[in-house]
Amino acid sequence: MSLTLLDEIIGQEKAIAFLKRIIANDRIASAYLFAGIRGTGKTTTALAFALSLNCRNPIDGDGCNKCSSCKKIIDGNHPDLIIIEPDEDKKVIRIDQIREINRHLAFSPALGGYRIIILDPAEKMTDEAANAFLKTLEEPPPRNTFILNVRDPGELFPTIVSRCQKVPFKALPSEDIVSWLIRKENMDEEKAKILARLSEGSLGKTITLAKDDLLVDRANWVDMLNSVIHGSSDMLLDLAQKFSEFGKKAATNKKLKDDRIALMLGIWKSWYRDMLLIKLGGTVDLIFNSDLVNLCKKASTSYTVDGLIRSLAVIARAEHDLMTNKNLLFLLERSLLGLKRATDL
Ligand SMILES: [Zn+2]
Repeated sequence: MSLTLLDEIIGQEKAIAFLKRIIANDRIASAYLFAGIRGTGKTTTALAFALSLNCRNPIDGDGCNKCSSCKKIIDGNHPDLIIIEPDEDKKVIRIDQIREINRHLAFSPALGGYRIIILDPAEKMTDEAANAFLKTLEEPPPRNTFILNVRDPGELFPTIVSRCQKVPFKALPSEDIVSWLIRKENMDEEKAKILARLSEGSLGKTITLAKDDLLVDRANWVDMLNSVIHGSSDMLLDLAQKFSEFGKKAATNKKLKDDRIALMLGIWKSWYRDMLLIKLGGTVDLIFNSDLVNLCKKASTSYTVDGLIRSLAVIARAEHDLMTNKNLLFLLERSLLGLKRATDL
């Protein structure tokens, strides 16, 4: 087993160059804000950074993946690497998790290197937790470094943001994802291109898409969408019920379940986007679902341009509600009804 090194992170040249520079100059700040959409490598980079800072025999600013410190990080039992994640139940980072950090900070890093504390994602802190964390952040003892992973810094208290050095992570260019899929997953180029477009610059999403047989799921989801649009309201409510349960079956873990729904919403978004593109006379090479272009053309005849724009707004709202932890069944019912209404010509 080994961890991905800083030099192996794809598509984030600026962020990596910055981190390698501060490592080389030994100018490590007490807090960094890794900001960018999910799946752009923030968590992987945070771990690679922790590896490098604690490695006994670093090579060109990267960890060696072999020494006792690297091994402990790989095995998840390094005493100075603390990863704070939302609890599975409520999906938030609680104040007692922050208090736990403070207990660690009372002691120097156990193995003499840097203590790295990763909040992943930091925007999941409750207000109470964030207030407590702000105090922690005011004067951390030396050789303690926080990494706050965040989708959008606007979701954190500005007082927290202002105490961190910002490291932006950008959405990955489609070509980078295509070449990664071909290289790492032995995928043929046509399929890789479709997945790369659907993953919207998120390598994490690409990996999920490549793992599940996304193209099969996509066909089912697009089918379901068509039956929603053309079926009765009763049928639609039944479907919402079924979707909310299919999420449950996919995983007992709430995060995985939400991921699955997010994936479906993402596919639907790409589908509406393609229909809109077709309506507006866009060229075929811009279509995300390029292998289904005829089906998409046919489906688009049920809509006006306005209806498609309204549908995209319905999905955007559903995506937002999903992230802010709204009731899944209610969210699906409202979204499906909204999508059905959008076909009224
Ligand atoms: Zn090492």
